[in-house]
Amino acid sequence: MKYGVIICPKCGMARGVESRRKTTKCQCGRKIKLGRIKYQFTTDSPIELARAVAEANAKIRSGGAATSSRRRVRQDSYSKIVERARPVKGSLERLHEVAKALTELRSEFDVEDLRKIASKLGNAPPEKILARLVEHNLVYEVRDGKYRAV
Ligand SMILES: [Zn+2]
Repeated sequence: MKYGVIICPKCGMARGVESRRKTTKCQCGRKIKLGRIKYQFTTDSPIELARAVAEANAKIRSGGAATSSRRRVRQDSYSKIVERARPVKGSLERLHEVAKALTELRSEFDVEDLRKIASKLGNAPPEKILARLVEHNLVYEVRDGKYRAV
């Protein structure tokens, strides 16, 4: 195998590396020694490598492969968003604030993110919130089920 997918120990994101190399530098700035690290996936095909990295990062971003400590951080972030949105007057404006905060935090969000926040704000079902935001052109769909605030 020529290439492998690794998970950066600092930022937790996946990246592709040439397996003959001894070190690599992550986007977050961390220098990673490849000798000690476990490959998540190996391949000889650069196309397969790119696909595997994209899939791994999509999974990580959606929380699928998140460790318990990462999950805790995310819960804290949700609480912060709720605190930030709660004083905003008008339910639509408040929901827009939530959407903006989620976009800042994660660059895009989905209905599951809204669900966690909606329960704290005591609002309508997340599907309804999302529909309302889309209807008012306050968020738009970036790709399948992923949204960004305007
Ligand atoms: Zn990193």
